[in-house]
This record gives sequence, C-alpha cells and structure tokens, in this order.
Amino acid sequence: MLSSPAETKFIIQKYGFTFQKKYGQNFLIDKSILDKIIDSAGITKDDCVLEIGPGIGTMTQRLCEAAGKVVAVEIDDKLIPILADTLQMYDNVEVIHNDILKVDIKSLSEKENGGRPLKVVANLPYYITTPVIMGLLESNVPMESITIMVQKEVADRMRTGPGSKEYGALSLAVQYYSNPSIVTVVPPSCFMPPPKVESTIIRLEIFKDKPVKVKDESLMFRLIRASFNQRRKTLVNGLSNGMGWNLSKEDVAATLVEAGFSETVRGETLSLEDFGKLSDLFCEKI
Ligand code: SAM
Repeated sequence: MLSSPAETKFIIQKYGFTFQKKYGQNFLIDKSILDKIIDSAGITKDDCVLEIGPGIGTMTQRLCEAAGKVVAVEIDDKLIPILADTLQMYDNVEVIHNDILKVDIKSLSEKENGGRPLKVVANLPYYITTPVIMGLLESNVPMESITIMVQKEVADRMRTGPGSKEYGALSLAVQYYSNPSIVTVVPPSCFMPPPKVESTIIRLEIFKDKPVKVKDESLMFRLIRASFNQRRKTLVNGLSNGMGWNLSKEDVAATLVEAGFSETVRGETLSLEDFGKLSDLFCEKI
C-alpha cells in the first residue's frame, strides 16, 4: 500500500505526473497520519465512503480495505489512469472523474448507497474547502460524519464562537449541523509537496437532532450570510441592504429590539441561538 515518500515518488515518476498547484495537490506521505484519519473516521465494512480528491489513491487504498464501498471524486484527468493502476486490486471502489462542486451528491448517495448515511473522508484541496463543506452540510444528503484535512486556521474557524474575528457563516453552519472535534494538527512535512501552512484533521459528527430548532432553515442561513457579508456594518444595515426583502430599515431595527438586541448590534456578536430567534421573528414578517 502507498504511504511513504519513496512509493509516492515512484508512482509520480512512472506516470510523469506533475503537481498542479491550481488543484491544491499536496499528497499525504505519512503512514501515521493516514492511520489517524482512518481510525478517527470509524469506518467499518457496513459503510459507504465518499472521498473527495483521491490523488494517486494513497488514502483510497486504506478506505477500500476498511469500508464496504468507496466512491472517489477526482477532477484531474492525469490522475485517472494512475488511480486505475493503484486501485486495481479493489473491486469495491468507483472513481468518478468530475469536479466535486458539480456533482449532485444527493443523487450520488441515492445511487451508490440507497440514500443511507454516507461517511465523507478527504484530504481536501484547500482552495475549495469552504464551498465543499457548506455544500455538503446544506445538501440534505444523509451523512454520519465528515472527517477532513483542512488548513489549521479553517479548522479554528469551524469551532470558534461569537466575538472572535474568525467567527462567521462557516462556524455557524458547522455548529448547526455537527459537533466538530480536532483529531490532530499535521505539519507540512507530511505532504508532497509540503504546503505553506499547517493542517488539521477535523471530524464533524453530524447531528441527528439540530441544537437549535427554527421555522425556516434557509431563511436563517440567508440572515447569517447577509450579516457576515458586510461584517463591518451594524446588523441593521447588513440586513436592510443584503436580504433583498421588502422590510424597511425601521422594520429591521424594530425586530432586532423585539428580539432583545440593541439597534446597533453587530452580527459577529450573535450566537447560533440568537440567529435562530431572529430568523423565527423575521419569518412572521416577510
Ligand atoms: N487524497 C490525496 C492524498 O491525501 O494524498 C490527495 C489530496 S490533495 C490535497 C487534493 C486532491 O483533490 C487532488 O488529487 C486534486 O486533484 C483533487 N481536487 C482538486 N480540486 C478538486 C475538485 N474540484 N473536485 C474533485 N477533486 C479535486
């Protein structure tokens, strides 16, 4: 099985592969980190795993050993023949050549796993971390957990709360849908080529019951996005300009006061519960 720098180099040279920066290609070359990802994802033969960006198949091989089925989505056409080689001994893997942001994950999960909960595992390409995670969380696809390698500062953003400058729509989405826990911090030397930043493996355990009940989830996330899109503005201004609704600035201010906030409150000070409360009040008025 692939896991060392020498094996990775051998495959790369055999196929004359060149790393593409635009695809965020930093391949894992450290066995103990691979073990940690697989262990923390808690994969069994009953599981269907979605892997995003298999690269040359280093983690995919381990996923194939541990899971019942693996579906791996890879964008780079140069990696497809390499994956056919490195995964040839497994009959429980399907490689899909596509951009993960264009894949209909809901129909994929229906087709590959009869709509039963998936486990997602990935050493994510860092240039699309946020859209991939937001897309997965908001997709309504049944999932048990998402175990991913991300930039350390993105993992920090996922876990932080009101008042910190890293707090934003990603923090709120992650904490609404899941319980995030850090598995380990990973230094650049565990990758080929080494990235410029430290990485973190984070596991998001998807909630069966949401921590906050709201009348209209999509309205709450529209409010959250509008609040953080104009971070430096007060919430009154952010919501008056950013929601595209018929409510006047005075209506917005009155609703904030009704919810128990000051007219000058900023979105970055509101908790998930606060956004839930506001969302339910606005829901009655639009
Ligand atoms: N899983 C491998 C590993 O751990 O060694 C590779 C991880 S590398 C950080 C990210 C992988 O995602 C690369 O193989 C890259 O080509 C692929 N990738 C980048 N953008 C993608 C996209 N939009 N859709 C699917 N795969 C993508």
